[in-house]
Formats: sequence, C-alpha cells, structure tokens
Amino acid sequence: MEILKIPLFFSSLFSILIVSNTVDTITKTHSITGSNTIVSSGGSFEMGFFSPGSSRNQYLGIWYKNISVRTVVWVANREIPLLDSAGVLTIINPGSLALVHGTGNVIWSPNMTGSTWDPVAQLMESGNLVVRDANDQSGHFLWQSFDYPCDTLLPGMKLGKNFVTGLERHLSSWKSSDDPAPGEFTYRCDPQGYPQNILSRGSVELYRTGPWNGIGFSGRPNLKPNTIYKYEVVYTKEEVYYHYELLSSVISRVIMSHNGVLERWTWIDETREWVLYSTGPADNCDNYKLCGPNGDCNVGNLPPCGCLSKFVPRNQTEWGNGDWSYGCDRRTPLDCHNGDGFIKHSGYKLPDPRNSWFDRNMTLGECEMVCLKNCSCMAYANLDIRSGGSGCLLWFDELIDMKELNVNVQDIYIRMASSELVHSKKREIVAVTLALLVGLILLSISLIVYLRKRKRKNSQLNREGILMHKSEHGYTNKTQKEDLELPLFDFTVIADSTNNFSINNKLGEGGFGPVYKGTLEGGQEIAVKRISKNSSQGLDEFKNEVICIAKLQHRNLVKLLGCCIQGEETMLIYEYMPNKSLDYFIFDQSQSMLLDWSKRFHIINGIARGLLYLHQDSRLRIIHRDLKASNILLDIDMNPKISDFGIARSFGGNETEASTNRVIGTYGYMSPEYAIDGLFSAKSDVFSFGVLVLEIVSGKKNRGFYHPGHRLNLLGHVSVLIRSNLICVRKSYALI
Ligand code: AMP
Repeated sequence: MEILKIPLFFSSLFSILIVSNTVDTITKTHSITGSNTIVSSGGSFEMGFFSPGSSRNQYLGIWYKNISVRTVVWVANREIPLLDSAGVLTIINPGSLALVHGTGNVIWSPNMTGSTWDPVAQLMESGNLVVRDANDQSGHFLWQSFDYPCDTLLPGMKLGKNFVTGLERHLSSWKSSDDPAPGEFTYRCDPQGYPQNILSRGSVELYRTGPWNGIGFSGRPNLKPNTIYKYEVVYTKEEVYYHYELLSSVISRVIMSHNGVLERWTWIDETREWVLYSTGPADNCDNYKLCGPNGDCNVGNLPPCGCLSKFVPRNQTEWGNGDWSYGCDRRTPLDCHNGDGFIKHSGYKLPDPRNSWFDRNMTLGECEMVCLKNCSCMAYANLDIRSGGSGCLLWFDELIDMKELNVNVQDIYIRMASSELVHSKKREIVAVTLALLVGLILLSISLIVYLRKRKRKNSQLNREGILMHKSEHGYTNKTQKEDLELPLFDFTVIADSTNNFSINNKLGEGGFGPVYKGTLEGGQEIAVKRISKNSSQGLDEFKNEVICIAKLQHRNLVKLLGCCIQGEETMLIYEYMPNKSLDYFIFDQSQSMLLDWSKRFHIINGIARGLLYLHQDSRLRIIHRDLKASNILLDIDMNPKISDFGIARSFGGNETEASTNRVIGTYGYMSPEYAIDGLFSAKSDVFSFGVLVLEIVSGKKNRGFYHPGHRLNLLGHVSVLIRSNLICVRKSYALI
C-alpha cells in the first residue's frame, strides 16, 4: 500500500479525540490512539495498537478481549508498521476510515465499496470490523475486515471467491511471530474442478483437503460433524466458500501458521492456554503429490508410496531410490475403443479435482456411461455422499495425490483395460468365496471367544487383585493381590474432579482414549485416562498398562496413582504433569526457546535413565515399544517421565527378543526389524530413543522433515550427512 500524504490540521484533529474503552465504534468524534482501544458490545474482541513478539513496531489489530494470552486475529497495517506510537485510527474527510500517522501520512485505509459523508466503524461481537453509514442499520456494510483475512479464520468468516465481485478471501501466514506481514504460506478454497481447500507455499501446493463431498473433505474423514463446530462448503453460481460456526461456547480458531501448518486451536479456560486440536497436513501422505501420478500413499507402509492396484512404477530405478515423483503407469494400457471398464477403489482421499468435471444431477450409473464414452476420462465418483450418494465427478488425465485412509467414506471407480477386468472378475469370485469361507470360520471362532471373554471379563480384573473401597478421600489402597498395590478411585470422585469430563478439562487424546485433568478434593491434581467405551483395544491396553507400570517406580516414569473400574467405565489415574508432553516444546518455534541446551541434555539424560531402568534395573524387563516425543511427559521442573505403557511387553528370564504379527507403535520411531518383521527387543526401544534424541537436538520431526534437495526424513538426512562426511556426529545438530 502506498503511503499517502493528506492535508489535515493535526493539531485540531488530536484535540477532538475523545477516547473511550467502553465504546465499540469509531466516529468523527471517537478515535483510538496510544493504548486506547474499542471493545465489541459483548466484550469478546478488542481493537487497538500492539507490538507483536519481541518487535517494537506498532500495528493496529483485533484480538480476543477475554483471553489472557494476547492472540491477534486481524491486522490492518500488516505491511506498513508504525515505528512509534503516533498512530491514530480515525474518520477522515471525505467520509473514510484511516490509520493516520502524526506526520500526516495515511498508513492504511480500507477500500470501501460505496461512499458516505458520515461513516462509522464498528467492532462486532464476531471480531469483524465493519464500516457503514452512521444512519444505516440495515446490515449493509461499505467494508468489513472479514473480507480481508490475515492468518486467522474466525467463525462466520468465508474462505473462497465471489464470482460476481471477484473478491477472493484466503488466509496468509505471518512472516514470523514478530512480523504480521504476509508470509509465504496461504490457505484458500479453490473451486477449480470442484471445491477443495489448498495450502501453498508461494505458487507451490503443499497440501490439499480433497474435494468436498457434502459432509466433509474427502481427505479428512476424521473431521466429522461434532458438537463443537459445524462447517460446510457453499458452491453457487455467485460464490464458493468454506466457513464454520461454533455450536458451543468454546473458543476455537483456525490459523495458517508461519511454519506452514494449518492449525485448529481451542482455548481451555481452566489451564489458560490454547490447545492444538488438529493440523493439516496431518501426516506424511498429506504432502502433495508425494507418490507422483497414479501413486498410492499409505502412511502405515515403509516406504509410504506404492502404485494403485494394477499400476507399476514409471521409473523403477528412481522409485527404488526413494524418488516417487515419476509416479506409476498402467501395467496394461487402456484400449478405449475395445471396451475399457472400471474397478472400484474404497477408502481413498479422492484425487486432485482440478482437472475434473461435475454434474449435480446425474446418478452413478449415468456418471459411468459418460466417463466410458470419453477416452480421456480416467475415473468417476459420486459428487455428494449424503442420502446414499448423488451427482457425478469425472477426472481426466492422471490421478494425482491419492492417499489411503483408515476408513471408507466414498468409492472411486478407476478406468482399466478390459483384460484387467477379466482377471479381477475371476479373482473377485475366488476371493469372495474364500472370504466367505474364512469369514464363516472366523465368525464362529470369535463368537466362542467373545462368549468366553464376556464370562471372564468382570472376574478377570478382580482376579488381578482389585477391590473397590471408598474412603473419605475417595479412594483406598486395598487390593487383594499384594504386589499390585493399586488404589481404586470411585467413579463419582473422578467425575467431580474433572467437571464431569468437561471438554475444558481435556488434556489430549491417545490410542487409549481421551485424557482429562482433574483436581481431587484435597487439591491434588491428577490426569485421568478414560478408555473409549467401544475400544476393545483400549481394554487390553488398560490391563497391560496396569500390569506393567503398577509394579514399577522410577523418577523418570510417570506415576500411576490408581484406577477406576465401575460398570462400563475403566480409567487410569496418574500424577498430573503440568508441562504436558515433550513434542509440545521441541516442535514449536516459540516454546522451544524455553529449552536451552542444558535443559535438552537433562531431558535426554532422564529418558535414558528411565529406559535403562525399564530394560535392566526394574523387577520386570519391559520393552516400551512406543517411545516418542508425545509419550515423554514433563513435570513442573521439566524432568522427563516416560508414559503410555499400553503396548509395552515384559520379558521374563533370559528372553531378549520377541516377535509379533501385530506391529503397533508409531512409524518414524520404529526400528526397521520391528516395522518389517515384527521383531522387538531392548534394541528397538534404543532405536526409537535415537530418533527422539535427533528430534530433541534438531527441533525437527523425523517424519515431518523437509529438505529442498531430497525427500528423506530427518534420520535419512542425518545419515546422508554422516556418510558424506559433512558432519561429525557431535556437531550434527548445528547443520540440520
Ligand atoms: P496418551 O494417551 O498417554 O498418549 O496421552 C495423550 C495426551 O494426554 C498426552 O500427549 C498429554 O498431552 C496428555 N497427558 C497424558 N498423561 C498426562 C499426565 N499425566 N499429565 C498431563 N498430561 C497428560
């Protein structure tokens, strides 16, 4: 924006400034300057001047009024900071709002869509700053800040394009936490082909949500309708936009962070902090085009890239070297005029629709016919999955950026040569017969096992030694079996202590289920892990955790205070770790400032001691199997405590190694012999520890690591540097 000079009689201007903290409007006689602010009518948002982070520059911005951590949601003069506190937001003649510097320069002024002699600017309860005619209460605005988002999407804001006016609203990251000027990253709703949201760095796409399917984005199946907020994409002839609304009093916002990650944060009043609820990209397979055209990304595989069924790598050598960008080709070329057909694929993030065509009214059958007739049509799917599916979406040319999901939301039908269909039909018949047979056998076995388990379920936990006794503190130490001295908590005590498992008390969520903060009557703070009711795995993990950790005590292991088993409810109660988990510190640019080298060393040391205890010094020899940054909790003094023994295994006698068919743990931390062959031992824990050390030292995630020169993870990058003698191990962190 150009800096304009306008003729103003500044002495008279300043003399008429009447500033008030209680008003929500700026009029000809009410302006803001210095530390004065205006506040929206219900007290949710405040607008005034601020300096971000460690910067001394002054910006005019809007932030949450009632949140103790200053959280700016919109900035007016993003690119032109004020170097002193001589800025005034005022109404200037003829009829405009302007941010004026004491020297007479107009630093910022909104581009209004109409004119008026008597404008007022009002800060609405939604956080929207609007300019309207003073006498016009109809809701018609001459300008609104919601049309010019910065890095934050608030409820009610639109992300998208108005085809009539040409206005495009998108998020753009700040340059850094000290500089709100537009950074490299943007997040927009792109209607090309069919609407989806895309995160880009400059002109390079990094992540896309997948096309909208009427309920959600095809690549974000876990983002289901929920009780906190609802969201939708509206696509008409006039406009396309994504927006969300809050359904409860929870405060939630979406930001395009300056690190290039789209983040949804929720404010927790109790702990007075923002909690990160979801991110985009969510995993490695969300990296745009990671596996090239017709590739198939599966985050559970090592390496993650494969080809779609009946496709083969286009460049076998490069593929083998870990460069998947060439993608895959059909192993049997299409022969459009001799009757191609389609194979159904389920459980995929649908391909990039930017080269697609759609029709809202066609049935799936009609969709297939249209695709079949057009030789460059490569796939089709329903446009909308509501009410059993409707509409038609066709893809032309290559299928880009497909990812396997853990659930099936929508089927896609991919074009294949007829010969592939014959094979697949025959195989289908054999497979179906086999599956039916196996299914029948499995069903009978599971029925027997289930009935037996049910019979044993209640008595089993009791046999492990747990009796329910209630004392005046709400729990007691009485157990049947001597060496499992695990206190039992009463359900009502836990429910009271966690405000009835209020969302505001939620600390996080693990494989086990949600974790809540609680405060017992005497003031003792606890963390409560509540098993998700339908999770049979959760119950297994519960027992495992009780058996493993109840018998162990070490200052670098999280302390289990007790458990609660009542009716359907099964919970574990731990000492509360106020500094949450290590990942919260090391992967966050501002939090990581709090961890100097000696603290990091102290943490590494503590984890090593905890691990040594598990492997060598404890009563049982325990292999943790899921050592990672989010399973290291930090106490008030930043002492690390290993947590989450849900999948740990204890070794008896001389046993040093075991194998499993069910490889569970976290990719990125798993040793190759465990990930590939299911072999685990103390060594596989040490491998995970090594990854953790690299992450602590570098502040980078092993799997989220990005390097412009290659696609390796942090571990691969370090080994390349070591092999090429670019670093000696002692100095590696300085080069990462
Ligand atoms: P988990 O089920 O162990 O993976 O825990 C999920 C999340 O809950 C962790 O990442 C922590 O943020 C939080 N959490 C778990 N246990 C505690 C605790 N004892 N104190 C504080 N926060 C915890």
